[in-house]
Amino acid sequence: MTTTSTTERSDQEGQTRAASPRRLRNYVAGAWVEPTASAVLETRSPASGEVLAEVPLSSAADVAAATAAARAAFPAWRATAPQRRARALFELRALVSDHQEELARLVTTDMGKTFDDAFAEVGRGIESIEAASAVPHMLKGENLEGVATGVDVEMVRQPLGVIGAITPFNFPVMIPLWFIPYALGCGNTVVLKPSEQDPLPSVRLFELIDEADILPAGVLNLVLGAHDAVNGLLHDPEVDGISFVGSAKTARYVAGTAAAEGKRVQALGGAKNAMVVMPDADPKLLAGGVTGSAFGAAGQRCLAGSLLVLVGSKEEQDASLATVVDAAKALTVGDGADPATDVCPLITVASRERVEGEIETALGDGAELVLDGRRDGGEGGAQLGPTILDGAPTDSRAVKEEIFGPVLTVLRVDDLDGALEVVNSSRYGNSSILFTSSGGTAREFRYGVQAGMIGVNVGVAAPVAWFPFAGWKDSIDGDLHANGGDAFEFYTRKKVVTSRWA
Ligand code: NAD
Repeated sequence: MTTTSTTERSDQEGQTRAASPRRLRNYVAGAWVEPTASAVLETRSPASGEVLAEVPLSSAADVAAATAAARAAFPAWRATAPQRRARALFELRALVSDHQEELARLVTTDMGKTFDDAFAEVGRGIESIEAASAVPHMLKGENLEGVATGVDVEMVRQPLGVIGAITPFNFPVMIPLWFIPYALGCGNTVVLKPSEQDPLPSVRLFELIDEADILPAGVLNLVLGAHDAVNGLLHDPEVDGISFVGSAKTARYVAGTAAAEGKRVQALGGAKNAMVVMPDADPKLLAGGVTGSAFGAAGQRCLAGSLLVLVGSKEEQDASLATVVDAAKALTVGDGADPATDVCPLITVASRERVEGEIETALGDGAELVLDGRRDGGEGGAQLGPTILDGAPTDSRAVKEEIFGPVLTVLRVDDLDGALEVVNSSRYGNSSILFTSSGGTAREFRYGVQAGMIGVNVGVAAPVAWFPFAGWKDSIDGDLHANGGDAFEFYTRKKVVTSRWA
């Protein structure tokens, strides 16, 4: 990712440049518009390093144009019958489904993950649209008759108004679709600010929506950019609610700033997810579950297991570790577009260098390499193989902090109590996984572990869209999770009417 101005662009890192990279535009009030911002970022293919497009760094004024359009569209959209809004979601669902392969290929090109992973990501987005389509049912209120003589009470749900959605690079289709369908279904209008690192799938999604003409102008808007655009949304008085997903640091900033501006906010942050392995774990489930979780998408998932907590005697721990290491060694590192690839490149060369720096830090802290994934980086320079560290001190960064790369840190404990102590000492609480053949152990783990999304013999415990998605502790700022019933709760406010009729 390179910051340049439109007038001086230089080819960085000696990588290839498309003949004339496409300059992306914002989508405001039903039209593609040129942002006022002159600075652009280049988005590059993680696999080849080729420049794919120029991303404008929209200003607060560009954001204001989009929020004004969203505000203008709000009264009519709010007044549209819920079942008609749901029908618009049915159309959105059909559109995304019809273009699932195309969108998935674009995710692979821009973000880097394997095609199968990208296809599944778009599938998850489709599920969110399906779950949001229940909106007429979910918007129904409550009532209580006769609380006093002739007095009845009813509660109705109304939309908030304008929602700003700010999303990360690692799921460029799914996460926008965690927010857009529910917010729109509930009668809000939306401004999406996708990650500046890989906005092409969002742009294509908006092109499809525009071409199919399924929403009135201004109901859904797109602003491209980075920090200035985010700050524009956070301080814009037209914005009523903010839905955010990203790193813990940004989530804390976004939540604090939005709350200080009087906005409703949900901010889903980073993670350090532990995978606890009991000696009775099924080796096949263990091998596939751990490697898929730790190294799939090169560890760039909020649900990536990055701590392997081995339970039992030294011999039992070593046996579990050997199962995982053997499976990790069999993984193929390469271009996500190659069907043989298991581990895709990181999002940028800078990201690979950062993760390599984390590996060096861990080694300096006393960890040992069980598996060293450092290599030449491949064509685009962003590849890094599965890396497993053992013996890192419990208070070191490799144990405590999110690395967001294909790096798995091993810890060893005697029993389940010791495992729960380690897992629950984390400041994060996004997800936690247990591998065991014992229902009783699974029950004890499930009861005691402090995290929002738990897996038993499942490496990536991503809830389907009909359930809420988020973690606990520093993995979220705000109360309401994404998706499921929480989404309808977040995008509506309750009004209670007490009436007496003569
Ligand atoms: P990020 O925090 O760098 O960026 C997320 C968004 O915030 C982007 O749109 C970016 O433009 C904006 N942003 C970043 N820094 C900002 C700043 N200082 N001021 C204003 N805006 C800023 O996150 P990322 O690297 O794109 O995504 C990876 C992170 O997201 C990981 O930490 C991962 O765990 C987390 N994540 C969490 C979940 C979850 O459900 N909890 C899901 C996916 C990703």
